[in-house]
Amino acid sequence: MKIILLGPPGAGKGTVAKALMAHDGSVQISTGDILRAAVSAGTELGKQVEARMTAGNLVTDELIMGIMEQRLQEEDCQQGYLLDGFPRTLPQAEALKALLEKLGEKLDCALELDIPRDVIIDRLTTRRTCTNCGEIYNVKSKPPRVEGVCDVCGSEIVQRDDETESAIENRLQVYNEQTAPLVEFYRDEGLLVSVPTSDLETVMQAIKSKL
Ligand code: AMP
Repeated sequence: MKIILLGPPGAGKGTVAKALMAHDGSVQISTGDILRAAVSAGTELGKQVEARMTAGNLVTDELIMGIMEQRLQEEDCQQGYLLDGFPRTLPQAEALKALLEKLGEKLDCALELDIPRDVIIDRLTTRRTCTNCGEIYNVKSKPPRVEGVCDVCGSEIVQRDDETESAIENRLQVYNEQTAPLVEFYRDEGLLVSVPTSDLETVMQAIKSKL
């Protein structure tokens, strides 16, 4: 399956992506994870994007398209992919469309997780992320077995720098202004599947009926 996951930060895109990946062997591609890895490794790219990410602002379309043009042509993408956090703006959506046409590929659907704002804020302020493998935890609903330690890889679990209250407010505003218009874009493309939940069974049902 080639699927775009749409929805505000905290909607559950990463969790749904991981579950779908386990289901059919597609690879999850998270632009946020790619950028966070660059920041942790202290690369040129990381230095370029760090301040914008911490404030909850988007990095440039050119930079993201440079990364994704390469990534989508790697071997593991042949099995299918789940795009998590990309595209994030109309220019990125247009550029992705052009790239896929060039590669002779087609998306199966754009899955929107349409989650209410109060649920999002609660989830983001209680979310914790593994610094190494990106596994997501929640202090209330999914704590790790040992506090602060990832169940999967044993690395440290932290609250992300962009999950302070002011950065969250900003990220939601950025989503509404720059990313929410993609819902209409993919509706017009005939690709939109919208679900009011990140419950996996409901999501799978909706994808199956679309495909
Ligand atoms: P995420 O983990 O998807 O919430 O992304 C974290 C941060 O990485 C965002 O707030 C942006 O600063 C940056 N980012 C991730 N994906 C994109 C994208 N497609 N376009 C622009 N910035 C992005």
